[in-house]
Amino acid sequence: MVGCAIAYYLAKRGIRVTVIERSIVGSGASSANSGAIALATKKPGIALELAMASQRLYPGLTTELGSNVDYVVEGNLIVAETEVEAAHLEALVADQQAAGVPVQPVSAARCRELNPLIEGRVLGGIHCPTDAQVDPFKVTRAYANAARNAGAEILVRTGVETIEVVGGRVRGVRTRRGAVRAQWVINAAGAHAPEIGRMVGVTHEVLPRRGQIIVLEATEGMPTIRVSGAGQLLAKHGAAAAGGANVAPSYTSKPLNGTVLLGSSNEFAGYDTRNTLPVMAEICRRARNLMPRLGGLHALRCWAGLRPYSASGPLLGGAGGPDGYATAIGHGGDGMALAPITGLYLAEYVAREGRNCSLPDFLGVLKTASPGESGGRPT
Ligand SMILES: Cc1cc2nc3c(=O)[nH]c(=O)nc-3n(C[C@H](O)[C@H](O)[C@H](O)COP(=O)(O)OP(=O)(O)OC[C@H]3O[C@@H](n4cnc5c(N)ncnc54)[C@H](O)[C@@H]3O)c2cc1C
Repeated sequence: MVGCAIAYYLAKRGIRVTVIERSIVGSGASSANSGAIALATKKPGIALELAMASQRLYPGLTTELGSNVDYVVEGNLIVAETEVEAAHLEALVADQQAAGVPVQPVSAARCRELNPLIEGRVLGGIHCPTDAQVDPFKVTRAYANAARNAGAEILVRTGVETIEVVGGRVRGVRTRRGAVRAQWVINAAGAHAPEIGRMVGVTHEVLPRRGQIIVLEATEGMPTIRVSGAGQLLAKHGAAAAGGANVAPSYTSKPLNGTVLLGSSNEFAGYDTRNTLPVMAEICRRARNLMPRLGGLHALRCWAGLRPYSASGPLLGGAGGPDGYATAIGHGGDGMALAPITGLYLAEYVAREGRNCSLPDFLGVLKTASPGESGGRPT
C-alpha cells in the first residue's frame, strides 16, 4: 500500500517508477487492517502530524484516484476500563487538543449514548467525531491502479534479492526475474523492511507486530461509531507491560456491508501470521464484556497481519546507506492512515534528490496550502 501510494505520486510528477512486489499487491499488512483513519489514537509528535496531514487528503482520495475507497466519517470512541487507562486518556486528550485535534473527554453515560451496545463497566472516554474509516483493500487497489494509469509499472511475484550499489550510489535491484535499473530505491517493505535494509548494510529497527482480527456476520442497525479500549493505546504508545497479546476490546462496524470487526491484538510473535485460539478467544471475551449483545452474533472469518512496528515512529526519507536509498517504513498500526501523506512526501523527497526537504518543513508548507491543493504538492 505504502509502495503503491509512493508510486502514484511519483508517476503523477512524470517520474518513471517501478513497484517490485514479492507477492501480490496488498498481500501484506495493508489488507489485514481495520481501515481506521484516526487521530484519536495518535500520540502528539510526528505520527499525529502525519495523520493530520493525511486526513486532509483522504476526503478527496476517491476523486483523486478515480475509484471509490469507501471513506466514511463515523467518529471514534476510546473508553477507559481501568484507572490507569483513564489517566492515560486524560493526559492524551489534553495533548491532542493542544495539537488541534477535535477530540473531547466524555463521561461514561455519554459513551453509552454514543454507542448503545456498551453495557460493560467504563469510567469514561475520549471522542473524536472526525475520525473515519476506509476499505483498506479498495485504497490499496485504487493507488495501484492510479499509479499504473499514471505510467508506473508494477511487477508482482518478483522479490528484491539484492540492491546494486556503484560508487556509493544505488543503481538498481536484482530480482528473481532479473535486474531493474534505478537511480532511487525506496524501501517500503513493511514488516520486512530490515531484510531490504541489510542489502545496503543498514539496520532498520522495525519489528513485525502481529494483529489478529475476527469478523462478525452482517447485521442490520449496528451502531456505526468505532469503539476501542484504551488498553490498546497503552500497547501502541509503549505504556503497556512488555510481552503478551495486549488485547483490549475493539469494535469496528463496517457500515457499508453491516459486518463488525473485533480486535486486534498487539503481539511480538516473529513473522508468524497464523491466528491463535487463545488470542481469538480473548478478543471475543473482551468485546463481549464491554458489549454483551455481540455475544449473540456469529463469527464469519478471521485473519492476522504484521504491523511494521518502530518504537520511534515512521522512518521516512533518508535512512543512511548509499545515496539514492530511502525508506518509507515503520508505520506500525497507522500505515493505512499515513499512506497518502507518506506517498506525497517520498515523491517530493525523490524529486528534490533528498535535498532541502525535511519532513517538518514539508508538513509545515502543506498545512498552509488550500484544501484544493491537498492532492498536489507544496512548491
Ligand atoms: C490487524 C491490524 C490492524 C491494523 N489497523 C490499522 C488501522 O485501523 N489503521 C491504520 O492506519 N493502520 C492499521 N494497521 C497498520 C497498517 O496495516 C500498516 O501500517 C500498513 O498496512 C503498512 O503498509 P506497508 O505498505 O508499509 O506494508 P505492507 O502492506 O506489509 O506491504 C509491504 C509489501 O512489501 C512486500 N515485500 C516484502 N519484502 C519484499 C521483497 N524482498 N521484495 C519485494 N517485495 C517485498 C510484501 O510482500 C508486502 O506486500 C493495522 C495493521 C494490522 C496488522
